Amino acid sequence: MIVIGLVVAGLALVAFARTTRDAQASPTLQDHWHQAYTLFDCVAGTALPPFDSQFDPDGIHSHQDSLIHVHPFTASVTGREAKMGVFLETMGATVEPEAITLPGGETLEAGAQCDGSPSEIVIAVWNDGLDPSGEPDLIVRDDFADIVFDAPNKAYTIARVVQGEAPPPPDDTVIETLVGTAGLSRDEQIEPPNRSAVPGPQDFGTGTGPEAETPAADSAPAGDDPAQDPATPADGGTDGATGTDEDG
Ligand SMILES: [Zn+2]
Ligand SMILES: [Zn+2]
Repeated sequence: MIVIGLVVAGLALVAFARTTRDAQASPTLQDHWHQAYTLFDCVAGTALPPFDSQFDPDGIHSHQDSLIHVHPFTASVTGREAKMGVFLETMGATVEPEAITLPGGETLEAGAQCDGSPSEIVIAVWNDGLDPSGEPDLIVRDDFADIVFDAPNKAYTIARVVQGEAPPPPDDTVIETLVGTAGLSRDEQIEPPNRSAVPGPQDFGTGTGPEAETPAADSAPAGDDPAQDPATPADGGTDGATGTDEDG
């Protein structure tokens, strides 16, 4: 009876460990996911240009393509730590209920009037980013940085929108780009961490951003990086400098 109990307990432990591991593992250091995103402003009445930074300290970044590329270089941004906040910090932007602050410091304040109605800051999420028609599956109104990239191929609209309304999903061009990357897995084309590049406003062409913002500061120390992908080509470190990265 004791033996059976131990076996049952052992199996339960294994199951628990597996569940915990799976829940916290994806995206892993081997994954390469994509998410579509767009910026929408009801005051402008249109989508805004996507973030243009290609800075990439942690492996959650963009290629000026309105996609969020999620290919963690460090265990600090895998699993439940693969968050919107990591992406926004890399882009040099912040999203708060009070305002969206764009790279360079321009702010989209909540409360501004859109066709006579007050606006609010939201991030809308479509779980099927490959076909984000209709209402979003989720509209987040606070703690935006804690949104977890828990599956590939979602779509996000970071928006100033009329209070209580849903912003539109990323437009067809963006979705087609996402569709074009669907099924892409991590491969030899992923660039290594761009930690050597100086992060910040110079990436954004304005020079007015907060100088103190150094997204790499809380990364793993150089030379002690467990995330170096052995499949990463040694000559691939020019992503930020040349913009020729082809990891999709
Ligand atoms: Zn990339
Ligand atoms: Zn990619």
